Amino acid sequence: MLESGKRIGYDYLVVAAGHQLDYGKVDGVEGKVGRDGLYSNYTRDGATATWRGIRSFAGGTAIFVEPKGPIKCGGAPQKIAYLADSHWRRSGVRERIDQRFVTGKPVIFGSPYYRPALEEVMRRKKITPVVSHNLISVDPAKKIASFETSEGETTMEYDFLHFCPPQSAPDFIKSSALADSSGYVEVDRATLQHARFPNVFGLGDSSNLPTSKTGAAIRKQAPVVVYNLLRHADGADLAVDSLEYHGYSSCPVVTDYGKMMLAEFDYSLKPTPTLPPWEHDSRIPTYANWLIKTRALPVLYWQGMMRGLA
Ligand SMILES: Cc1cc2nc3c(=O)[nH]c(=O)nc-3n(C[C@H](O)[C@H](O)[C@H](O)COP(=O)(O)OP(=O)(O)OC[C@H]3O[C@@H](n4cnc5c(N)ncnc54)[C@H](O)[C@@H]3O)c2cc1C
Repeated sequence: MLESGKRIGYDYLVVAAGHQLDYGKVDGVEGKVGRDGLYSNYTRDGATATWRGIRSFAGGTAIFVEPKGPIKCGGAPQKIAYLADSHWRRSGVRERIDQRFVTGKPVIFGSPYYRPALEEVMRRKKITPVVSHNLISVDPAKKIASFETSEGETTMEYDFLHFCPPQSAPDFIKSSALADSSGYVEVDRATLQHARFPNVFGLGDSSNLPTSKTGAAIRKQAPVVVYNLLRHADGADLAVDSLEYHGYSSCPVVTDYGKMMLAEFDYSLKPTPTLPPWEHDSRIPTYANWLIKTRALPVLYWQGMMRGLA
């Protein structure tokens, strides 16, 4: 049903409604993001303001925050921390900055294969990781952030704070019959067919697939949905004739200007490197990977994925 009240019938429904940004779940930030040291690059204006804030920052405590719940692109809160560090080193102010990465999760990265490499990046950059601290409120006037921990609430003073907002499935999905108890569209993790409605398929961030929510994952999910939907429409039994998705996802973690680590994994969280073939250890950030991120992936996205060719 549309906002206008108009109802549209369907034979098959493919749900790919993305993630909802829940800025309202962090008390105190409404109307305050994008200035006075408080930034979040998850909107177009927010990204511009974050870059302005990074360039004008000259010293003090800089905190980069990741929420405890599911987010799109698990590496994104770290990417902005690493890029800010790189910029501050280039502009000669890094020595005057106490930089921290504060996450609501118990570890800084889900895949145990890539995690030590990212911990090493933080050590090298002198970014202090703080885990199991979930941002719940900010006092932008006093520049104090409050975090929920297993031992109760704690606060940190900041001069610069970038936060990734809490995220969830869109409300209209949560309140629909399509959702599971977590609010996401309940699909089979291999066939992407809905668990209870055979003529519904789901993919992308709004689905309950237990893998990292990325565009790279969707690139592998889309052909599975197309094949299985067409086979189902032809009367096939997907239990015996279907394409299967194995949870592939990847996260190009930019670690410096000119360096990128391509973390690729599947449901098992084990590495599944496909790119680049000349690398021996995908945990090493390289310039070749940076070229892939800045030159090749945009072409793959716009010319390939968006046209259904790759
Ligand atoms: C900072 C950042 C960096 C990232 N970096 C990477 C990366 O390097 N590599 C990578 O692979 N992924 C990356 N991602 C993740 C990637 O952007 C998402 O996983 C991907 O866009 C999800 O696609 P989707 O189609 O599921 O949802 P979306 O891209 O969010 O699209 C959902 C669409 O549904 C529409 N919609 C929602 N509700 C309704 C409604 N009620 N009616 C009509 N339309 C509706 C929305 O307007 C939107 O157009 C990054 C994300 C962020 C935020």
